[in-house]
Amino acid sequence: MTTANTTGAATTADAPGRHHRAEATIDLAALRANVAALRERTGGPAVMAVVKADAYGHGALPCALAALEAGATWLGTATPEEALALRAAGIGPDRARILCWLWTPGAPWEQALRAGVDISVSGRWALDELLAAVRACGVPARVHLKADTGLGRNGCQPHDWPDLVAAVLRAEAEGLLTAAGVWSHFAAADEPGHPSIQAQLDGFAAALAYAEGAGLRPEVRHLANSPATLLLPQAHYDLVRPGLATYGLSPVPEVGGPADFGLRPVMSLTARLALVKEVPGGHGVSYGHHYTTPGATTLGLVPLGYADGIPRHASNTGPVQIAGKWRTVAGRVAMDQFVVDLGGDTPRVGEDVLLFGTGEQGEPTAEDWARACGTVSYEIVTRIGGRVPRRYVGAVPGAPSAGGATA
Ligand SMILES: *Cc1c(COP(=O)(O)O)cnc(C)c1O
Repeated sequence: MTTANTTGAATTADAPGRHHRAEATIDLAALRANVAALRERTGGPAVMAVVKADAYGHGALPCALAALEAGATWLGTATPEEALALRAAGIGPDRARILCWLWTPGAPWEQALRAGVDISVSGRWALDELLAAVRACGVPARVHLKADTGLGRNGCQPHDWPDLVAAVLRAEAEGLLTAAGVWSHFAAADEPGHPSIQAQLDGFAAALAYAEGAGLRPEVRHLANSPATLLLPQAHYDLVRPGLATYGLSPVPEVGGPADFGLRPVMSLTARLALVKEVPGGHGVSYGHHYTTPGATTLGLVPLGYADGIPRHASNTGPVQIAGKWRTVAGRVAMDQFVVDLGGDTPRVGEDVLLFGTGEQGEPTAEDWARACGTVSYEIVTRIGGRVPRRYVGAVPGAPSAGGATA
């Protein structure tokens, strides 16, 4: 097993007798296999591995590098800081296109231009700031026009689309930018048959037809997030943008689990029991005493809490596996720790507590936690905090030479 200090989080040596409280193991071989499975499933389109939010908690740089090794050619980030960090780490424009889509006024446009980051534009304010930066630094932009085809979040509304397209075409004619993409994002691709899906497919086709009719020639047209990558071939166009599926989780758990799509969860979260003790019946457990021992029993202390991303909503519901048996969070999840009722068993202090993983050893999965907490597996993995060291296994990519970076 290998370690890599690539996320800024502490890392843990995989040596016998190592001391650790908890760790998230990130299986980059699984990530590569997931990207390969998505490429095989989709056939033609390019793959953009979405690595926003520190690769959904998995570590942006190692995950980005592994995804590129497996044939992804694009990376997707929300914030400019995320995109610039990947460039600064040595993933140059020759290695991968990076699209960044969440811009606010005063954003580091010039840095993004110099670093060769593709820029999403949803409205005139952004185009105006971007063009001012292009004029200031003399580096033309690569722009992806984002249409709001029904999500109602980011993106340009249909009534503003002709104006935005016209402004982009004028700027392109002046040599200030290349119209690199036209794109949009689904509202409910994870709910097969939802009426918004067809409406958005139609809306995207209309937005594209208008732009192309006006003379725009985008290099890539893209619409598909993970659920659309898995379930909607008509949404694939030139490029798919899987996030969650890259990390081996199913975006459509009602339709199928990861294995049904040839995917394997990348993150496993374990902790080590910090205390095992006998308590009498009727003993309140953790803040507020929302659990009371039904009889004399043993309690185990798990040294992870909501500061580490364990949802407080997991109080009395979150599942863990200890010495082969499933246990449930007893009482409230606190900031740094929670308790499980061990039912009289006495596993040793230091015993592994499996919170979630692939499920292949019978342990819970991130999806089990999502169900227990009334959320989605996206949130379970993404919120695992910076205090939890990541341990990378499965052939860790070497850091790229800094030569490709210009930021
Ligand atoms: C997060 C995000 C994605 C990836 O979504 P998944 O459902 O995780 O695949 C794709 N495109 C945009 C615009 C996003 O914000």
